[in-house]
Amino acid sequence: MSIQAIADRVRGGERIDRDEAAALYRNAPTLLLGALADGIRARRHPEGVVTYIIDRNVNYTNVCVARCTFCAFYRPVGSAEGYVLGFDDIFRKIDETIEVGGEQLLLQGGHNPDLPLTWYVDLFRAIKARYPDFRLHALSPPEVVHLSRLSRRTPAEVIEQLVDAGLDSIPGGGAEILVDRVRRLLNCYSKATADEWLDVMRAAHRAGLRTTATMMYGSVETPDERLEHLFRLRDLQDETGGFTAFITWSYQPEHTELAGVEATGVEYLRTLAIARVVLDNVDNLQASWVTQGGKVGQLSLAFGANDMGSVMIEENVVRAAGASYCMDEVEIVRNVEDAGFRAARRNMHYDILGEPIFRLRAVPRRFGLDVARRDGEPLMPAELINYAARSRVGKRARQVPPPSPE
Ligand code: SF4
Repeated sequence: MSIQAIADRVRGGERIDRDEAAALYRNAPTLLLGALADGIRARRHPEGVVTYIIDRNVNYTNVCVARCTFCAFYRPVGSAEGYVLGFDDIFRKIDETIEVGGEQLLLQGGHNPDLPLTWYVDLFRAIKARYPDFRLHALSPPEVVHLSRLSRRTPAEVIEQLVDAGLDSIPGGGAEILVDRVRRLLNCYSKATADEWLDVMRAAHRAGLRTTATMMYGSVETPDERLEHLFRLRDLQDETGGFTAFITWSYQPEHTELAGVEATGVEYLRTLAIARVVLDNVDNLQASWVTQGGKVGQLSLAFGANDMGSVMIEENVVRAAGASYCMDEVEIVRNVEDAGFRAARRNMHYDILGEPIFRLRAVPRRFGLDVARRDGEPLMPAELINYAARSRVGKRARQVPPPSPE
């Protein structure tokens, strides 16, 4: 079928198959691909509103046994640079988030063998006891798989326990590319296979949680494998309808074991656009300005995105790999309005919460993203002594010294 014939099918609201998607992704001119994605965006969101959320990416630990080759954030068990945030540190971050109008934490971290499931349950309960209306968008599928192995429970049982403690929704991190050939090459097959990632999402959706879905492209995968990823997401969404949004970003190579070069802006826009065309059952596509910068982030609104993602008061993972873009709410809204849309604050469920906070009250401007730990803050909080460690290093560190003889 010709590109024009496939384009006509997309314009007519028809679903395209894998071969048609491959022909578009490979051969359609970039502006045509963008126009098709923009047409779908306009049909799904005719009101001309572009949304964003005010929340904070908090990485509770950087200690990780998974050792993905594309990751510049993690530190191995026993590293002098490994950290775990204390409950009080996390409370402070929530206070700061609420101060600027935020209502949720995106809480993710490394696969730390020395944080048992009870640590997460206690943390979630403590947060909900203190901040009953504050939302926890937490623990990507590989973290759930890690906790399921650590606690010898099924992922569904882990999710049930976490929901009981206060988990509200699950972020779609750790998907990378949902093709096991790629996952083996990135050393992320053992943290979660493609099926395991999808099974956690299936279990979460069945438990009544909404989640997001992601794709990190531009490392070792082929264009066809990106499409396989998108079609696997589309199939699960047909089955459960549980994904609220899709976010794609390019692999960030700096300081990683895998190294390489970052995909260009055009490749990002083409990938975003084909995602909008293929994922005809996902309402919302976010612009990844945090990896692409504000200018390409703004252009994303003409290539299928209807959401600017998070104001993101803090970010540690992408920054570790060399991307350090920052936009506060004022800057996000300026970009949205300059592109011809109305900007609105939302929650994780994409309910509109209202107009920009800075138009309702004075909010301090932010010109840099916060970090997980400030200089001088402890690497390991004292409360960890209450939790059983799994690693030899962790066990040794948590041994209570015998009382000294009188
Ligand atoms: S991407 Fe996540 S799971 Fe992989 S090494 Fe980094 S922190 Fe660990």
